[in-house]
Amino acid sequence: METKWEFSAGGVVFRKNEEGKVEILLIRVKNRWSFPKGNIERGEPKDKAALREVKEETGVDAEIVEYLGEVDYWYNVELTTIHKFVYYYLMRYKGGDVVPQKEEIDEAKFFPIDEVEKHLSYPTDKKIFKRAVEVLKKLGEL
Ligand code: ATP
Repeated sequence: METKWEFSAGGVVFRKNEEGKVEILLIRVKNRWSFPKGNIERGEPKDKAALREVKEETGVDAEIVEYLGEVDYWYNVELTTIHKFVYYYLMRYKGGDVVPQKEEIDEAKFFPIDEVEKHLSYPTDKKIFKRAVEVLKKLGEL
């Protein structure tokens, strides 16, 4: 059995709708909703990777507001066990239409913040979302 490490970075992107209500950007791959993320390239800063992946996966331009923390999980590909680390940032939406990347993403969508928790599948995403809510409250955005 071989073990490999993988490192990704992603974003919890928020914006306010016309009524001033906070919305959060989620992506769907098959039947699971989560936050946009992707592989950090060699030598690439984590925050740059997170912004790049949000743009590539969803079409959205954003800016970093605050680092939210890292999560890790394991999965298997054939005989290889992968230990994956993902670094998340809170990001403010700047512009761009929401267009899911065809190859990897089935859907990308802003949800009202009070509908996010029930859509998230992974415990690690729930943990990062909780942290994002705390930071949004601290910043007076919620
Ligand atoms: P990336 O989006 O970083 O480029 P990827 O699409 O190749 O990565 P993951 O999204 O990490 O890969 O998915 C790889 C495997 O891990 C899949 O089987 C997926 O269901 C599972 N997985 C994805 N996210 C989590 C998580 N937060 N907790 C546990 N398992 C997860």
